[in-house]
Amino acid sequence: MLTNDQLSAWDRACFMHPSTHLAQFARGDAANRIVSGGSGVYIEDRDGHKLLDAFAGLYCVNAGYGRSEISDAIAEQARQLAYFHAYVGHGTEASITLAKMIVDRAPEGMGKVYFGLSGSDANETNIKLVWYYNNVLGRPEKKKIISRWRGYHGSGLMTGSLTGLHLFHAQFDLPLPYIKHTEAPYYYRRPDPAMSEPQFSAWCADQLEALILAEGPDTVAAFIGEPALGTGGLVPPPAGYWEAIQAVLEKYDILLIADEVVTGFGRLGTMFGSDLYGMRPDIITIAKGLTSAYAPLSGSIVSDAVYDVLMKGTDEYGVFGHGWTYSAHPIGAAAGVATLALIDDLGLVDNAGSVGAYLKEGLEAALGHHPNVGEVRGQGLLCAVELVEAREPRRFFEPSRKVGPNTVSAMLRQGVIARAMPQGDIIGIAPPLCLTKAEADTIIAATRDAVEEVLGAG
Ligand code: PMP
Repeated sequence: MLTNDQLSAWDRACFMHPSTHLAQFARGDAANRIVSGGSGVYIEDRDGHKLLDAFAGLYCVNAGYGRSEISDAIAEQARQLAYFHAYVGHGTEASITLAKMIVDRAPEGMGKVYFGLSGSDANETNIKLVWYYNNVLGRPEKKKIISRWRGYHGSGLMTGSLTGLHLFHAQFDLPLPYIKHTEAPYYYRRPDPAMSEPQFSAWCADQLEALILAEGPDTVAAFIGEPALGTGGLVPPPAGYWEAIQAVLEKYDILLIADEVVTGFGRLGTMFGSDLYGMRPDIITIAKGLTSAYAPLSGSIVSDAVYDVLMKGTDEYGVFGHGWTYSAHPIGAAAGVATLALIDDLGLVDNAGSVGAYLKEGLEAALGHHPNVGEVRGQGLLCAVELVEAREPRRFFEPSRKVGPNTVSAMLRQGVIARAMPQGDIIGIAPPLCLTKAEADTIIAATRDAVEEVLGAG
C-alpha cells in the first residue's frame, strides 16, 4: 500500500481540486485529507481519524456510508452490463425501473424523466428544454431565465450564471446573457425588520414582477429556485413565499423549475420540497440523494403538459437533439434503484423529519441565547446556525475575520464535519438522513463548544 506521505506528495503535485485555494494547496499551507472509508454517518481518513460527517459529503450521501444494498447492486450491474447508451430508445432494466420509481414518487402530473450525470448538467438540460419548448410554441423571444441571488444551480457556464453567488461569478465573466436574478427569500436578511413573513414574501413576489415587467414578459421563459435555499445559506422560505411567486409566474406564462438536487428524496422530511411547500413545478431537477452519491446520476422530471409540447416539437423537427454519452448510465441507475428502495425500507424520509426537528430544537436550546447567534433555522435535516457580531441591531462580521470557517474548524477538532457556507458566517448542518438522536446530540454539543471556543461563552 502507498504511504500517506507518498500520496500527499502526489496530491499536491498532480491533483487540481475543486473549490480549493490552489496556491495554498500547492505550497502545503492548506490541509489535505485522504478519506479511506465510511460507515453510517462516519467517515475515516488515512491519519486514523473517525469523523461524524454532519454534511453528508456535499449533502448527498443521504442513506449514509457503507450501505451494502447499494454497493452490491452497483457490483452486480457492473458484472452484468457496465454500460450501454440510452440513445434511440435503448434502456436497461435498471434505467427503466428507476424512471418508473421516480415518476411514482414525483408530484402528480410529472410523468417523464431525462437522465444526466450531475446537478449542473441536469439544469443545463432544463434550460435547453425550456428554450426548445418556446421555439415549438412559436415564441422564440421568450428565453430568459430568472434565478435568485443566493440560489445555487451548478458550476457550468449557464448553470454557474443561474447560481446567484459572487464567488461563482466575478472571476469567470458570469452571468451570461439570458440569466437574470431576483431577491433571495431570506427572511433573516429582509430589508425592513418590521416586515412579517407574509409581507416579505409579497415583497419578493413584487420584486419578481417588477423584474419581469422591466425585461418584458414576452422575453421571460422560466423561473428556477430551490424549494429551500441550499448553498446560499440553508434557508427555508418564509410563509406564503411559493404561493406568491407562483401567482406571478402564472400571470405571465412563465415555467417553474424546482431545483430539488438537495431537497429531493427526503432531506426536508418529505419526498420532495415541492410537496412540502405546495409548489407546482413544470420541471424538477434531481441528483445527489437519487443515488446517495454512490454513483453519479441526475435527472430532469418533466410535467406531462411540457412533454406534450416536446413531442409536438419532434413531430415537427425530427429527433430531439440533446444527449450525453452517460445519460441513464446503468451503474448509476442500479445505484438509484437500490437507493430509493432503501429510503423506503429504512423510513429515511420520516426520520429526516423527526430527527431534523430534534436537531433544530437542540441547537436552539444550546445556542439560541448566545449573543453571536443571529438565527438557528432548518427544515428536516437541512439546518443552519448563522453567526453575527451583534443581534440588535443586527450586524454581520467582517468576512476577513473568517468567523464561520474558524467555527467549522473548531468543530472538526471535535470530530464533527460541518460546512462553512460560502456567503456569510453560516454553519451548515445537513447529515445523512439515517442520523439518530444520539448522533444529533454529538453534533449539537460540537456546535455549541465550537461557537463558545471561537466567540466566548456569551
Ligand atoms: N443544484 C443544487 C440545488 C445544488 O445544490 C447543486 C450542487 N450542490 C447543483 C445543482 C449542482 O450539482 P452538481 O455539483 O452535481 O453539478
